[in-house]
Amino acid sequence: MTRLFTAEHEMLRKSVRAFVEKEIVPHVGAWEEAGRIPGSLWLRLGEQGFLGLEFPAEYGGGGGDFLSTVVFAEEMARCRSGGVAFSVLVHTDMSAPWLTRYGTEAQKQQYLPGIIRGETVCALGITEPGAGSDMAGIQTRAVRQGDHYLITGNKIFITNGVYGELYFLAARTGPGRPGRRHEGISMFLVERASPGLQVSRKLDKMGMRASDTAELAFSECRVPAENLLGEEGKGFYQLSAGLQRERLVAAVLALSSARQALEDTIGYLRERQAFGEPLAARQALRHRVADLATELEAARQLVYHAAALFADGEECVREVSMAKLYATEVANRVAYHAVQLHGGYGYMREFPVEGFFRDVRLWTIASGSSEIMREIIAKRLPM
Ligand SMILES: Cc1cc2nc3c(=O)[nH]c(=O)nc-3n(C[C@H](O)[C@H](O)[C@H](O)COP(=O)(O)OP(=O)(O)OC[C@H]3O[C@@H](n4cnc5c(N)ncnc54)[C@H](O)[C@@H]3O)c2cc1C
Repeated sequence: MTRLFTAEHEMLRKSVRAFVEKEIVPHVGAWEEAGRIPGSLWLRLGEQGFLGLEFPAEYGGGGGDFLSTVVFAEEMARCRSGGVAFSVLVHTDMSAPWLTRYGTEAQKQQYLPGIIRGETVCALGITEPGAGSDMAGIQTRAVRQGDHYLITGNKIFITNGVYGELYFLAARTGPGRPGRRHEGISMFLVERASPGLQVSRKLDKMGMRASDTAELAFSECRVPAENLLGEEGKGFYQLSAGLQRERLVAAVLALSSARQALEDTIGYLRERQAFGEPLAARQALRHRVADLATELEAARQLVYHAAALFADGEECVREVSMAKLYATEVANRVAYHAVQLHGGYGYMREFPVEGFFRDVRLWTIASGSSEIMREIIAKRLPM
């Protein structure tokens, strides 16, 4: 494969890496405990230009390409807190980009500058208690009444939902024709302060603990009609069009954190003495690490290939689904073995692989589960 990243990308990598080491790594323990990242981190990320890498310059963004996002996600994932990286990338890549793609000029001017400065933290609200993988099954309703919509329903598992300010929300504005449930879904920009919207619970999770996760209740929540995002009834198609970005970012985050965990594991094996020599001298363990490194490299090539197609605007649903499936499954294999190779210490909270093991478990479930990725890939095979 020819080189994917330019000298400019590598400069960005250097500055994100330095920022992560200086301003994130020392605090991840406290943020994991607190179950959130502080507002000051959002503002610092904004000051550095990291929250607007791809957004248009006229709103304060950097006007960069998707590969800048890949670099940013890779470096953020090295902070050894999956939740910090997840929270930030939900804001930059899993929610806000819909605004540049489908927003009106007035919506962009109203929200994008604050998003890019880190003042308006974003969340994506699709999943409901009764509908996750089956996105077309959502029940939350939005009924037009004069110059407002009244939204009623429940959302669950919403990242940045507790402390974020702006939700990119999917709701049903019509039933859709018989057998076509995906029709009649629309997207809305909903501010957290909207009347009738309540954060009903902050959810307690296995991992990704530094990212907050909400259950939301909407009871005739009043949203101005001008906050409809894109076309009424076309929300399902709009959401589907954005999923390739989300899935690639998920693959990059899982993979980069796994590479970090393998580096940590190699460091541990070199230090740890047993039977009169470092564990790193044991052939059985060396071969295990060699297998994991090989799988990670294979996953990386697959992810880079899909990212390059996506950056060029090519059709790449098959490649992105394969990259998401393989990278997140490999990352979980690395997690299993990284803990095993650390022995009892791998089970202790003070060792980063313990947190990695819990964090990375999310990635075969969220942003399209492994089973859903297999469905998408199988549909594109001649069988
Ligand atoms: C920590 C966390 C953060 C999240 N953040 C967000 C967020 O910010 N915004 C948001 O909208 N959502 C978010 N989600 C939701 C996430 O995207 C869903 O959990 C995911 O889509 C799976 O949906 P589900 O949980 O309803 O599982 P289900 O869809 O009920 O699936 C259960 C199991 O059945 C399998 N399955 C389902 N359908 C099929 C099928 N057709 N064939 C084979 N197997 C199938 C699934 O793969 C899974 O293994 C988050 C979830 C978590 C845990």
